[in-house]
Amino acid sequence: MNPTSATAQPAFDVERVREDFPILDTRVGAHPLVYLDNAATSQKPQVVIDALTHYYAARNANIHRGVHYLSGAATDAYDQARVTVAKFLGAAEPRECLFVRGATEAINLVAATWGRKNLRAGDEILLTEMEHHANIVPWQLVAEATGAVIKVIPITDRGELILDNLDELLTPRVKMLAVTQVSNALGTVNPVAELVRRAHAAGAKVLVDGAQGAPHVPVDVCALDCDFYAFSGHKIFGPTGIGILYGKAALLETLPPYQSGGDMIERVTFAKSTFRGLPERFEAGTPHISGAIGLAAALQYFAKIGPEAAAAHERDLLVYASEQVRAVPGIRIVGEAAEKVGVLSFVMDDVHPHDIGTILDNEGIAIRAGHHCCQPLMRRLGVAGTARASFAFYNTRAEVDRLAAALHKVKKMFG
Ligand code: PMP
Repeated sequence: MNPTSATAQPAFDVERVREDFPILDTRVGAHPLVYLDNAATSQKPQVVIDALTHYYAARNANIHRGVHYLSGAATDAYDQARVTVAKFLGAAEPRECLFVRGATEAINLVAATWGRKNLRAGDEILLTEMEHHANIVPWQLVAEATGAVIKVIPITDRGELILDNLDELLTPRVKMLAVTQVSNALGTVNPVAELVRRAHAAGAKVLVDGAQGAPHVPVDVCALDCDFYAFSGHKIFGPTGIGILYGKAALLETLPPYQSGGDMIERVTFAKSTFRGLPERFEAGTPHISGAIGLAAALQYFAKIGPEAAAAHERDLLVYASEQVRAVPGIRIVGEAAEKVGVLSFVMDDVHPHDIGTILDNEGIAIRAGHHCCQPLMRRLGVAGTARASFAFYNTRAEVDRLAAALHKVKKMFG
């Protein structure tokens, strides 16, 4: 997508959709809230809030261990949530979808279990220059522990992966390619299907960080053929503290436990313990039951909205916003990939991104400023940080107009 010219607004009833999100009625001082920090976390529709309330009001009990009515009801709801997640991801089986705290824990789980089991001194882990710290640091820790080495796929100044030399980078020593589907800082959509195909041809496994992909790009893990896929509930209209690690069953079954304790064991003696199969082996202790149920409600809601319709509306906003923001004197957009989702990162001559964020907050506009947990990317692009507006399907062109007007005001204030 080339955000150069505004297109006609697609038929998407955004005003209707906004009624589903009570927080969008918030006022910040004298101003109605304009929430453009969706890449950090999304807002929650009433159906998700209701699912959480209903769970605690009418279903709360611990799962699996109980013989009573409520425990059965909570267990059914938790198991059903996994079925909903599997359907959303296009996974072959629900047991391939593990409930974790979020994308960060999902990646740590793979690095700690798959990594420690499979990596040897001299093996290589291939990342990209645009990864979030959550998809860098866990690999560094496992590299330190095993003697493996980290290599990096470079990017262009526009924020696209440079794949010309990928076959040289994909040596037989590369055991894992861990890549983000969508850059949180730039909005770039990476060609993950091609990357999976080429990495597999070279004998490497692939983990896709879908934290920004799942909410904005339709996902089908079977079609993608990735080995692992990670995402966070809170970025896809669900609760915080819950997320998913998808892994191919045949691969997950070979992995040692991550955390251990109750629920994940078959039999325990003081001499030795044996472990259950999927998914229980990776879900030690009482899980985030309400979180799983809330996530399922969010995914069902998102399916009703239609990920394609949502993406089309966000694309329209991005095109419109790119034009408006580019027209502000002294602003440079950071990240101009041909394939982008609704993330608009920018810098302004002689104005610190945090000052932009603070002045916009005075106007009721929520954006994010800083390195966006991508310090190596910021270094590569020669900026300390950016200001970032990120869109969801409930944002409007009128909100973009307010963003642009506030940026003109910032420009005036700083001369
Ligand atoms: N990867 C990407 C691309 C992200 O944007 C984020 C969150 N900003 C994460 C991973 C980590 O997600 P979480 O903090 O929800 O675990």
